[in-house]
Amino acid sequence: MNGLAERYVKLVLALGQHDADYVDAYYGPPEWRKDAEARRRSLPDIDREAVALLAALGAATPDALAGELAALRHQYLTKQVESLRARASMLRGKRLGFDEESKALYDAVAPRHTEADFDSVLKELEGRLPGQGSLVDRFDRLRARFVIPKGRLDATFQAAIGACRSRTLAHLALPPGESFTVEYVTNKSWSGYNWYQGGYRSLIQVNTDLPIYVDRAIDLACHEGYPGHHAYNVLLEKALVRDRGWVEYSVYPLFSPQSLIAEGSANYGIEIAFPASERLAFEREVIFPAAGLEPAGADDYYGVLALVDRLSYAGNEAARQYLEGRIDASAAAKWLERYGMYSPMRAQQRVRFMDQYRSYVINYNLGKDMVARYIESDAGATDPARRWLAFGRLLSSPRLPSGLGGSGQ
Ligand SMILES: [Zn+2]
Repeated sequence: MNGLAERYVKLVLALGQHDADYVDAYYGPPEWRKDAEARRRSLPDIDREAVALLAALGAATPDALAGELAALRHQYLTKQVESLRARASMLRGKRLGFDEESKALYDAVAPRHTEADFDSVLKELEGRLPGQGSLVDRFDRLRARFVIPKGRLDATFQAAIGACRSRTLAHLALPPGESFTVEYVTNKSWSGYNWYQGGYRSLIQVNTDLPIYVDRAIDLACHEGYPGHHAYNVLLEKALVRDRGWVEYSVYPLFSPQSLIAEGSANYGIEIAFPASERLAFEREVIFPAAGLEPAGADDYYGVLALVDRLSYAGNEAARQYLEGRIDASAAAKWLERYGMYSPMRAQQRVRFMDQYRSYVINYNLGKDMVARYIESDAGATDPARRWLAFGRLLSSPRLPSGLGGSGQ
């Protein structure tokens, strides 16, 4: 298997020569990357090697005695190579339907919704946000009171990171020396990004193009840091790359099933670290003062946010229609405003995200729901310690979206 894993890593690096977003992280042997740059294999050549690798994997299926981890490793490699073939075919101009694409790249299909599915939440929001103007304008006026001032951004974010880290370390054993740095950047299609460097280090970038609201501090610190992307990458490097010598985990192809687990666990990790029952009190006591904001009205605001969160699948529907060419960019932005409660600027940013990352959008909300169902069926929804244990196991294992049980449909 180690030889097949090495061929997989080299294939991912080769495809990265044709797609600047594809190799999200790589900390394996540097000469493999240099070799990929020097050879610059063609897309048809990469596909031929992927077909050969799949055949070799098919001939190397582990028997039942090898145990669950060996089976998961084999399934993981197979699915990752299949998704690499799908991405390579897209780079050669193949167009897939939204569901077909997400199935091929992320091993999952998002459920479909119509406008009517969001009506009851929108009606409830109408009651919560009285006043003049459109619903999204009223939501924006409420949010405007909760913007973190630019000068307080880093202090607020550091307070959130400190809390996310200590809550995570109380349950998950991270190796000594893990750490990350935070940078503030502009002109990006995303709001935050974790660039894993290997050696238990991450670079986390926070995009300051648009106002950052106080509730985003905990969300970003958990999602990008602990117990989200940084913790996930650190645990994979420790448990699989270093302890077992599984080189396939030293590369992270962004458009692959691994991303559903990464984004889903990063979003679910927010609730693991800060259950709703504890979060608001912590925000009022620590995060609001760090941001220099008055916590008056925080209860109402977080109530509205919980409702807006129930509109997350509206984003998938906007992406589905837009990427299948049934609506244009401005109609997609309008859809996000009307059914997803995105401000106009944020809606435009999200359409740029769709241009760049396409059906990747499902990884956040469907991924979170799939991870939640998996953890809670494994550990029970109510016992925090058991949930953390199951969560830590997921973050250290080669499990695929289809292995979480339930396709997401
Ligand atoms: Zn993420």
